[in-house]
Amino acid sequence: MLVSSPLTNKPNEEDQKVRSGAMSQHMNLLLPSFETDQDEDYVEPKTTENGGIGGGVWRFNGNNAAKKAASVSMKGTLARLFDSCSKDVKKTILPLGHGDPSVYPCFRTSIEAEDAVVQSLRSGIANSYAPGVGILPARRAVANYLNRNLPHKMKSDDIFITVGCCQGIETMIQALAGPKANILLPTLIYPLYHSHAIHSLVEIRKYDLLPDLDWEIDIQGVEAMTDENTIAMVIINPHNPCGNVYTYEHLKKVAETARKLGMMVISDEVYNQTIYGENQFVPMGMFSSIAPVITLGSISKGWLVPGWRIGWIAMNDPGNVFKTTRVVESIKEHLDISPDPSTILQFALPNILEKTTKEFFEKNNSILSQNVDLAFDALKDIPCLICPKKPESCTYLVTKLDLSLLEDITSDFDFCMKLAREENLVLLPGEVLGMKNWVRLSIGVERSMLEDAFVRLKGFFARHIKTQLT
Ligand SMILES: *Cc1c(COP(=O)(O)O)cnc(C)c1O
Repeated sequence: MLVSSPLTNKPNEEDQKVRSGAMSQHMNLLLPSFETDQDEDYVEPKTTENGGIGGGVWRFNGNNAAKKAASVSMKGTLARLFDSCSKDVKKTILPLGHGDPSVYPCFRTSIEAEDAVVQSLRSGIANSYAPGVGILPARRAVANYLNRNLPHKMKSDDIFITVGCCQGIETMIQALAGPKANILLPTLIYPLYHSHAIHSLVEIRKYDLLPDLDWEIDIQGVEAMTDENTIAMVIINPHNPCGNVYTYEHLKKVAETARKLGMMVISDEVYNQTIYGENQFVPMGMFSSIAPVITLGSISKGWLVPGWRIGWIAMNDPGNVFKTTRVVESIKEHLDISPDPSTILQFALPNILEKTTKEFFEKNNSILSQNVDLAFDALKDIPCLICPKKPESCTYLVTKLDLSLLEDITSDFDFCMKLAREENLVLLPGEVLGMKNWVRLSIGVERSMLEDAFVRLKGFFARHIKTQLT
């Protein structure tokens, strides 16, 4: 028995046991490659140039269409770092390069969300195909959820249900791509934006974020790089990985700039529930009467269920710009030819959004806040890693890497490779996020892992510190 009766919404004793203990082993879905089902003494069968079995010639080959796009992805880099971890280092692998808190028992989703899925599954009405744009109750629920904070209310028709926020990113880039198109992305970015822009042949123009100004957007820089082929400006708010939350005034300036330059704003707000600092979250949709806004979101991060794969594209567009520019049609057409999120999750979505309590988010945010405090303090003993601003949102901490303090480290990637090899500690090189010689570490893990990580980092730093002679 995994779950309590969806009708009473009360966990029974058995559930409590399962909820607290079942996941005590850190199962990590991004497996280090030496954890494999393959036998250790497995030998690849001998192949001829094209083909193998019995000398047959096969007339097909995998193409290279996604090779470049995938090479900038996080998964590719993490796989290489995990490969460098070694069994000979008698330490457990600490995977702080990527962020999936849901693998740790302290970050379990809400019971209301679990019940919502069970209820949907058991109802018998969620077994069929859903429309490409999503089912009406799910679209309506997302509109209500987002409208709580918006002056211009959206209708269910303004919402499209997607396979996580990832499909929102993919769909928007595909829907806007065209010859000569370019897109403005922040220097530190969720890498999937890069991958899809590359894959859709959209030119990437990177604008700066200003670490000394609370990671605000360099708006002058944005103005200077925009031209008539700029399809959109992407902002991430709250920002993964910088961990800042933009102020009302700053976002208003972004909207005014977008209006002046004739572009839309795509606002990735996937972390809008993961905030533990002073700045209040302001949705970009607040300024939709100035410039049209696409908001991307999902339940992956806030509800700690990235494996459930459901999210949304929301059009904040009181001026109907997206209709007259054919953006709405294009989004629909792309969704019509791509896979939909499971109907079970679509039917569960209204209850997930409406029934999960404030306390659930507060509890998670309080754990994250304590982890950030720990990490921020511990960094004082590791001078080669400098965090310009204590995060107030999301589940990461980014640090500048001061190579001048290190003897034999040539780049952020080199730093992360050697750290993986010597300490079995995996961090993410900033290179993958668009900024060289920065390093990102995940704080969405168990406290003991963070403590352990900083002991290892200290040892690593001591071994590689530049001696005074040089
Ligand atoms: C995790 C993440 C996504 C992807 O969200 P999913 O719902 O898991 O597809 C998109 N953007 C940012 C900034 C993220 O951190």
